[in-house]
Amino acid sequence: MIKEILLRIINFIYPITCCLCGKDLEAISQYKVCDKCKESFSKIKGNICDKCGISLDSEESLCYVCKKDLKAYSFDKLRAVYLYKGNLRKLVLKFKYSNRIFLYKDFAFEMSNLIKEYNFLRTADFIIPVPLNIFRRIKRGYNQAELLAQEVSVNIGIPMLKNVLLRGKVTKPQFKLSKFERKKNIQSSFTIKNKNTIKNKTILIVDDIATTCSTVSVCAGVLKRSGAKNVYVLTLARD
Ligand SMILES: [Zn+2]
Ligand SMILES: [Zn+2]
Repeated sequence: MIKEILLRIINFIYPITCCLCGKDLEAISQYKVCDKCKESFSKIKGNICDKCGISLDSEESLCYVCKKDLKAYSFDKLRAVYLYKGNLRKLVLKFKYSNRIFLYKDFAFEMSNLIKEYNFLRTADFIIPVPLNIFRRIKRGYNQAELLAQEVSVNIGIPMLKNVLLRGKVTKPQFKLSKFERKKNIQSSFTIKNKNTIKNKTILIVDDIATTCSTVSVCAGVLKRSGAKNVYVLTLARD
């Protein structure tokens, strides 16, 4: 009660508006996004590629990339909640670059629901967030993938590991490199510690967005070479 009154007073002095459309929000809104904008996020539904989770127009079971080479991605399967476009894209970019933490509990809730939908995701022994390198982590103050992973871990009851997959700086500037060299370069920035923890285990990698899937694929490859049995990926959004 007192909390609510205080919030109303604060809201009178500093009105809260939706960070996407600018509409005034209720004083007690937990997040800075109005319901209408929230409803505008499009979930991935209908037919998807069984391997990489991309939305498909056809009834086929694999997308063009996966059909051409089933090993194009090093993970076993990827699933994502939303399409990475429109208001959701705007919000994720804010979440990522403007030092503000938006909606991550709601997002993690949706991601947890997806785990309940797909049996194979539930078989994970551990959840591992895609790490940021230490400099970016300090600069930003948080790792958005870790925030989501932590919340999902609590919701689902699968432990999260933070001390296994580590990320250093890429050694060479990416733009100078060929596609193959780029992959090698990203690969060399990830290291594995405490290998025994993941030996023969099923890992669920969590990240916020998968556009080209290259980062999560590299992470999966590194984990598999270090002994992980299966590696699945769960992201908030997918292109
Ligand atoms: Zn809005
Ligand atoms: Zn695919």
